Amino acid sequence: MRIITEPKELQELCLSWRKKGLSTGLVPTMGYFHAGHLSLMDYMRPLCNRMVVTLFVNPTQFGPNEDLDAYPHDFERDAKLAEEHGADILFAPAPGVMYEEDHATWVQVPALAGELCGTSRPEHFRGVCTVVAKLFMLAQPTLAVFGEKDWQQLAIIRRMVRDLNMPVEIHGRPIVREADGLAMSSRNAYLTQEERACAPAIHAALEAAADLVKHGERDATAIRDFIRTRIREGVPMGRVDYMELVTPDGIEPVETITAPVLAAVAVFVGKARLIDNHYIEV
Ligand code: AMP
Repeated sequence: MRIITEPKELQELCLSWRKKGLSTGLVPTMGYFHAGHLSLMDYMRPLCNRMVVTLFVNPTQFGPNEDLDAYPHDFERDAKLAEEHGADILFAPAPGVMYEEDHATWVQVPALAGELCGTSRPEHFRGVCTVVAKLFMLAQPTLAVFGEKDWQQLAIIRRMVRDLNMPVEIHGRPIVREADGLAMSSRNAYLTQEERACAPAIHAALEAAADLVKHGERDATAIRDFIRTRIREGVPMGRVDYMELVTPDGIEPVETITAPVLAAVAVFVGKARLIDNHYIEV
């Protein structure tokens, strides 16, 4: 595995692969790998000739009071894991080489960014789309994979790729969880022992809500109230940022459940903001 830090170097190498007819698979990440990241690499490896894993804590997707500076990192460990999981390239640029000082071009999908994480992180998806578009221009991937943990991000990237005719196939992969149900996240490292012990209640609340829908509940307000109450009881030190039922592709609020919905939640727990979601069939 080769570590590349210069965008131009990555682009030249990937263009040369393309000329030879080799396919490139892209796995974008912010590092501090857990089994969720590794599942994306393991999924991608057999689907492409060359696999590029990117590790970049993208400043433009963080708000002014968010955890950009505190974001956990362990480059040595990540590099070792990426190599063990089949990466040909680990692309780990410094922020200064990814964005010029007078960077002025942004990619946005506002129609899908108004709800969920878009409400409390207004610039977040603009940063995500812009950096993903840049990574696509650099790595020229045939395919790219993203986790359903960040469901709204995946929906937005699919729409961006469709609307801008980007020649890349987007694959989504299921959420990898701890044995007790907590969705794996680099940010789980912020949790104290007590917070960590309560955090699985978030997933349990979503599962219990899916059960209610299975047994006939169709009122989204009742489901939302139910999930909020369960989380309040199970994670008493937490504060719900949002709890919504939305259409899975359009990320639009749902009032009456007549088709599959996505239940999505963000909860501040200590220093962490934990997100999770559940695709609910009817
Ligand atoms: P991050 O490093 O948190 O930006 O995540 C990089 C990629 O890994 C994104 O596509 C995430 O959706 C995905 N990811 C993060 N956590 C998980 C998880 N628990 N299960 C599956 N994919 C995940």
